[in-house]
Amino acid sequence: MTRIYMDNAATTATDPQVVEAMQPYFTEVYGNPSSFHSFGREARNGVTEARDKVADLIGADHAKEIIFTSGGTESDNYAIKGVAEKLKDSGKHIITSSVEHHAVLHTCQYLEKKGYEVTYLPVDEDGFVNPADLQDAIREDTILITIMMANNEVGTIQPISEIGEIAKENDVVFHTDAVQAVGSIPVDVNELNVDLLSLSGHKFHSPKGVGALYVRKGTPIEKYLHGGAQERDRRATTENVAGIVGLGAAAEIAQEGLEEKQEKLTKLRDKLITGIQEEIDEVKLNGHRNKRLPNNVNFSIKYIEGESILMKLDLEGVGASSGSACTSGSLEPSHVLLAMGLCHEVAHGSLRLSLSKYSTEEEVDKVLDILPKVVSDLRAMSPIYNK
Ligand code: PLP
Repeated sequence: MTRIYMDNAATTATDPQVVEAMQPYFTEVYGNPSSFHSFGREARNGVTEARDKVADLIGADHAKEIIFTSGGTESDNYAIKGVAEKLKDSGKHIITSSVEHHAVLHTCQYLEKKGYEVTYLPVDEDGFVNPADLQDAIREDTILITIMMANNEVGTIQPISEIGEIAKENDVVFHTDAVQAVGSIPVDVNELNVDLLSLSGHKFHSPKGVGALYVRKGTPIEKYLHGGAQERDRRATTENVAGIVGLGAAAEIAQEGLEEKQEKLTKLRDKLITGIQEEIDEVKLNGHRNKRLPNNVNFSIKYIEGESILMKLDLEGVGASSGSACTSGSLEPSHVLLAMGLCHEVAHGSLRLSLSKYSTEEEVDKVLDILPKVVSDLRAMSPIYNK
């Protein structure tokens, strides 16, 4: 059976060109980037080149503004805890949204236990934060705004530039979790008015376990890992050189092919969306129809459980998800869909199909062939579906 992978929002396949770029850093260029000798210098050069490539991808003014991390979760933790710690004497109020990834939400909840106050902004039925709500929520003691660029479950792209403008006018530090956006849509830290931005390599064809935090020059942030003086004394530990080189290669490839990839994926996404709407009755597209990631499709399929659709699809060789990879193991309905106003039953029947540059039209056609049958089989067994 040929298998079809449509869970690229969870993680992507590493690009063979990225693997090739990394290869020498395991066997030949194995020096410690902090070492003085030529072995160290070679490794350091690899890290430096990668930093330039990541900075280029997100339009950073200086490569120095890129700090390599172990991925999106660490970048989010570092940004939020780092600013909270540094500015604790100026205020203890943080603003975020109710549809953030758990890497942000759980970090904010942790800080609440430490005496910080967090405002969770509501979203509308498409998952958008209203900038006017943000303006109203800002207080004298607000030290940080953290709002994601694109949602990992429903793909909705927030008006980050406008939100950043409000943060700037009010002199509040602004962080965005752009883990799903980077490599998928254009991201420019200056156009977006952000001070801090999280990205993760494995969402755009670099290996897992490597990411970065962009920190605009002058942003107040406490250091994260204490130890050596790596990453300009902000994050100790010997660099994951091969992973960083892989992230750099993936950034370069993503930047070169971005327009073409966006165009291709938007077509495939739209074919999936209209196909599902035509072939299956009583479905609801979650997230905005157009202001969504080019690779994201998310539907609530009424009268059946998301988990049972996933199991049936898996038997047919299709890898999909019912939401974020981290919550799909639990039977809790998605906090994102609930925040968008869906009731528990409808939120339970959600299916996310997420594409990558390796997805093909044949795969989309195959899924459009398999899915309606899966749904009608399950509905035939459903006591609440009577047609
Ligand atoms: N933020 C968002 C929006 C994500 O989608 C993810 C991963 O799913 C993360 C953060 C966490 O990234 P990582 O898996 O690199 O820790």
